[in-house]
Amino acid sequence: MPNPSPLPPPLKRLGQNFLIDPNIVRKIVALAGVTPQDNVLEIGPGRGALTEALAAAAARVVAIEIDPLLHQYLMARQAEWPNVELICADALEYPTATLPVGTIVVANLPYYISTPLLFMLLAQRNRFPRLVLMVQEEVADRLAAKPGEEAYGVLSVMAQYAAEITKAFRVSANCFRPRPDVGSAVVSLRVKEAGSLDCGNYADFNALVKAGFAHRRKTLVNSLRNEGYSQGTVVEALAEMDLQATVRAETLSVAQFVELARLLPAPTPRPCAAERQ
Ligand code: SAM
Repeated sequence: MPNPSPLPPPLKRLGQNFLIDPNIVRKIVALAGVTPQDNVLEIGPGRGALTEALAAAAARVVAIEIDPLLHQYLMARQAEWPNVELICADALEYPTATLPVGTIVVANLPYYISTPLLFMLLAQRNRFPRLVLMVQEEVADRLAAKPGEEAYGVLSVMAQYAAEITKAFRVSANCFRPRPDVGSAVVSLRVKEAGSLDCGNYADFNALVKAGFAHRRKTLVNSLRNEGYSQGTVVEALAEMDLQATVRAETLSVAQFVELARLLPAPTPRPCAAERQ
């Protein structure tokens, strides 16, 4: 039956590049290994290409779309998808902690916010054991980068701490309408068993990794000192790890960042301007 709700034109500012290739949709759902017992979270259902396939494969799908016109367009198809909950919201604001533990995330992410979305999802790795995501190729490279590679940075360390990352396949711009200006790739993140590496306090670990990469031209010691860590303690910690005081963040493995986090106390917060006066 034709959809009675008009199809809204694509909005570039919301990263609306819609999948038009059913073969890519099938490959994504197969890679996610969704079964009729699974709960799925889809971020940005758009015109519903992936939603339709997920609804057929999963027990339940929660699909969060920020664009009210697209949400309305999808709601007109709700009767076809009784197991899909269509939510009109910003995925970055949505209380994902209300979703069942074990939910699989499958999405063609809006590229303009893929990095904050990834950090949000990784912080909830106990809830989301598997994520299959279309991202811009540059982000796929950052997720999978190894120490010493140019793309290696905060996202690589935090993602590889949480999950096994596979850059599964690239997707041609011809598979979307409108065509994106950047390359695209599908990545799979399989969350590691708890205890395979333990960073202690996750927020402190995240802050340390960010601080380490905050000044890429500086040594790790200088970068951390600039971000409020005690220089002496950092030098001592590196010595204990048999690392030179001149190392740079981009040469440390994920395991070395974890060890450093366990040796370093979090820095005392700097007083804000009002407190200093
Ligand atoms: N899943 C559809 C597909 O594959 O054809 C659409 C993918 S499109 C790349 C990204 C979708 O995310 C768009 O529908 C866009 O409106 C939506 N979106 C953008 N920002 C969002 C946000 N903050 N929260 C939820 N959805 C968002």
